[in-house]
Parts: sequence; C-alpha cells; structure tokens
Amino acid sequence: MDQARPAQRGNNLDDVRRNNLAIVLGLAHVRGRVSRAEVTKVTGLNRSTVGGLVAELVELGLVVEQEPDAASHAGRPSAIIVPRPDIVAIAVNPEVDAVTIGLVSLSGEVLKRIRYDTAHVPTPQEVVNIVTAVVAGMRGELDRSFRTVGVGVAVPGLVRADDGEVVVAPHLDWHNVPFSAMLSDALGLPVVSANDASAGITAESTFGSGREANDHIYLNGGASGIGGGIVINGSLYPGVSGFAGEFGHSLVNSGGVLCHCGAYGCLDTEVRQSALLAAVALDAADSEQLESVLTAQFARAEGPDAAVLELVNRQIGFLAESLRGTVNIFNPELVILGGFLGTLYAVAPELLESGVRDRALMGPREDVRFARAELGLDLLMIGAAQLAFAPMLADPASIDKALGKAS
Ligand SMILES: [Zn+2]
Repeated sequence: MDQARPAQRGNNLDDVRRNNLAIVLGLAHVRGRVSRAEVTKVTGLNRSTVGGLVAELVELGLVVEQEPDAASHAGRPSAIIVPRPDIVAIAVNPEVDAVTIGLVSLSGEVLKRIRYDTAHVPTPQEVVNIVTAVVAGMRGELDRSFRTVGVGVAVPGLVRADDGEVVVAPHLDWHNVPFSAMLSDALGLPVVSANDASAGITAESTFGSGREANDHIYLNGGASGIGGGIVINGSLYPGVSGFAGEFGHSLVNSGGVLCHCGAYGCLDTEVRQSALLAAVALDAADSEQLESVLTAQFARAEGPDAAVLELVNRQIGFLAESLRGTVNIFNPELVILGGFLGTLYAVAPELLESGVRDRALMGPREDVRFARAELGLDLLMIGAAQLAFAPMLADPASIDKALGKAS
C-alpha cells in the first residue's frame, strides 16, 4: 500500500510541507529504510526539498540518517533514512480468554508481547485494569528508553470510527462501551480503537502478504470468530460507518445453527477455532499450539485422525463456500487468510483453492490468488500499533503535541 505522492493539494505552503513530511516518513515507516535518492525518485521532489524534509524529520526525532550502504548500486551514494527505533506505540488486543499487550516500534517491529490469560471473559474495566498494570510494570523502561506515541486497541467487535466506541463485541458481551475514553483516562495516553480484522488487514497490507496487491480481501479467524476487511485500490474500505467486511456473517449452511447476529448458518458459526481445538484435545489457552498439532497430524504417513480430517474438510468446505461469493463480488487479486483460517489453509491448501475455483465464476476465479497472513502472532499487535501511529504518520509535525500529552 505504498501510496507516496507529492502534494499538489493544500491551499498554502504549510499544508504542502506537512503533506510532504508525511510522505517521506511514510516511506521510511513502510520500507524500514529508504535512501534519499529513492525518496527523490518516488516523490518527484527535488533533492534540496527532500534534504529539507529529512532534516525536519530528524529534528522532530522521528528518523535518523545512516551512512550509505557500501555495496550500493552505481551512482552517487545516498544517505539512508530509517525510523527512530525508540518511537513506540502500545498495542492491546482483548479476547475472550486473554488480553495481549505489546510494544511496537515505528518500523513495525514487535519489541515485547505479553499474553495475560484471564479466568473468564474480561469486562471492559478488567481489560483497562490489566493494561494499566502491565504498562505500570514497563513504565521505568518506557520512560528511560522510549517515546510512546499512544495506544492502539484491536477489538473483536464493531467499533465506531469517529469516537472509538465499541458498539458491540458479541463474544466479549460488550455493548456500547466507550473503551478508548476509559483506557485513555487510565493511562494518560491517546487511545485509538478499531475492529481487530480491520487492524489486521492494515498490518498485512503494510508489512505482510498484501504489500504487492492493491485489491485484496482479508479474513481473520480468532477465538472470538471471523472478521474481515476489503482493500480496494490500496485503501481499506470502511463502509459508511466503519463496519464493512463482516464476512463472518455470510450464509454458508442453510441447515446451520443460530448465530448471535440472529441468522442461521453463518460462516462464523460453522467454522470455529474452538471446534478445531477440541478435535485435537487442546483447550483455548493452547490456541497458539493449534497449528503445530494440526501440521504434525497432516504430515503423518497415515494422515490425520479421521475425526480431525473430517472436521478440517467440513470447515474448509464452508470457508470455500463463503469465499466463492466474495471472489464473485469483488474480483480480488488476493485473498489473505489470518489466524486459524491461515492454519486451515496451510494444512490443506489444495482443498481450499479447488473448493473456491470449482464454485466461483469463470472470470474472477482465474485471477485470484490465496496467501496466508505473514505476520502470524504479531499481526494484531502491529495492526493495533498502526492505529496509534496513524495520526503521527498523517501529520509528523504533530508529534510534539502527541508526546506533550503523554508526559
Ligand atoms: Zn451471523
């Protein structure tokens, strides 16, 4: 989702400069490292303008310049711009069985990931308390070694875009919770919340398997169910109020069970992580081991246990049924599967691909590729952190204000 474009819009020089700062910082952020020469080439800005922008980003404390690579290609060596490693965001993902908290750098590296298992489904206040306690434990290190931009929360539910209120998180049983405001009050940091699948697709689009694909569909399977997102021409399509991409509630089984949404036979009720965990005798706390156990069974000479094979076949059949419709409607270049859906795809890729290709229409089915999310366990941490970094990436000169509020 590399969308560098020099600013022509903006009604004064300050707008143009701010937009150009965002483009240069965005390139360093997405690529991890970028030379001045590449910035000049991508943006079409002249060398002295790029030099001035880089100097300003250095002064803001957002990037550092390094010596050019010794083995760089022919031509004049060009200084390398990298995001400052001490600029971080705190990432939070509340789930039915745990709260995961991470520390993520501006280049998308997960520096710390702490999974705090909960004995029951956590209430909003319990999540606030857990995050506050974990951040308090890191406070010395944060104050000493990092500059914390803010907090991003990936929520397994519907989150309203404008104020970050959790409208409903069905599996957490949260309804109309002003979660961003609650956590911000407790931490004294700016907090941005969004749907977990939307956060995941933003991360995958920026740093993972969606890097090269402008039009893609993303489906993520977690303990709370299945969410998704739609990237059109490089941008996440939000819908009118930020709720787009609920592929979990497409009909896949007309004889299926009642879903919390009120319909029967949704993808979300027919393809569940809990069923896979039960089939291989793991409990929810062991969900991170699901992939290794399933992979081991499918690698055996005699193949997986009959009940496991039947369940995997059944779930992949329902997933293919849902994707058939999605591929027909959106004609995507790429379908990315995250969480346990990525695990299902990894153990039986042919089954899913043929399941979609046998049922989708002639045109769209020939264009589509499938991939699993590359970011694995880091996906939602990076996605949540992106939410926190977004205001600064849109307007790097605002960093002083953001950090002023943090201290
Ligand atoms: Zn449903």
